Amino acid sequence: MRILVTAGPTREHLDRVRFLSNGATGRLGIEIARAAAEAGHGAVLVLGPTHLDPPDHPAVETVPVVSALEMLAACRTAWPRCDAVIATAAVCDHRPAVHHPGKPEKSDSPAALELVRNPDIVATLAAEKGSRTAVGFALQVDDAELRARAKLVAKHLDAIVIDSPAALGADRADFRLMTPDGNVRLFNGVTKRELAQALVAFVTGHCGA
Ligand code: C5P
Repeated sequence: MRILVTAGPTREHLDRVRFLSNGATGRLGIEIARAAAEAGHGAVLVLGPTHLDPPDHPAVETVPVVSALEMLAACRTAWPRCDAVIATAAVCDHRPAVHHPGKPEKSDSPAALELVRNPDIVATLAAEKGSRTAVGFALQVDDAELRARAKLVAKHLDAIVIDSPAALGADRADFRLMTPDGNVRLFNGVTKRELAQALVAFVTGHCGA
């Protein structure tokens, strides 16, 4: 089977040099693509800007993107030939309403930024998934399972991984995998590589491949 993986942050440019973004590195998504390839599957890794290298494996096709709109376009192109999607990307919720092509002088910068909402990539793909599998993530602080469950339902996902801010940049962390039947599987103190392998096994089993 072929697994589509979104990973990394997105950058939402105000102009040629300035952008809004976040501190995601894409590490978990890169590990998922690697785990998929090592398990004999293909992966399309749609990767936002990061200092980390994608897996150097012939079964991993990496598509570098910058913005959420580019990530969505790359995913839409790849989705028809994939059997599952695992969305780890930290997509910026908003982008500037105006993107200046050059670099405006400081004195020309607006005092306030007008933002528009970005599309939800995994929800868009899941809406067209048919019998394919879609897995999302939920970084939650309070009422984690309640909020994650609401996202699972709203985005039509087959599973959602609950993680916490402690997982950001960490080597080992606690994760929970929640499915629509209410089952919650705990992954305590696992490495991202171990979680990646478990997620590949989950989607492989879910698709019956
Ligand atoms: O709603 P929230 O941002 O918490 O959802 C997180 C999940 O949704 C992650 O799997 C993330 O990759 C995905 N997502 C997305 N497109 C967005 C926002 C989030 O695919 N615009």
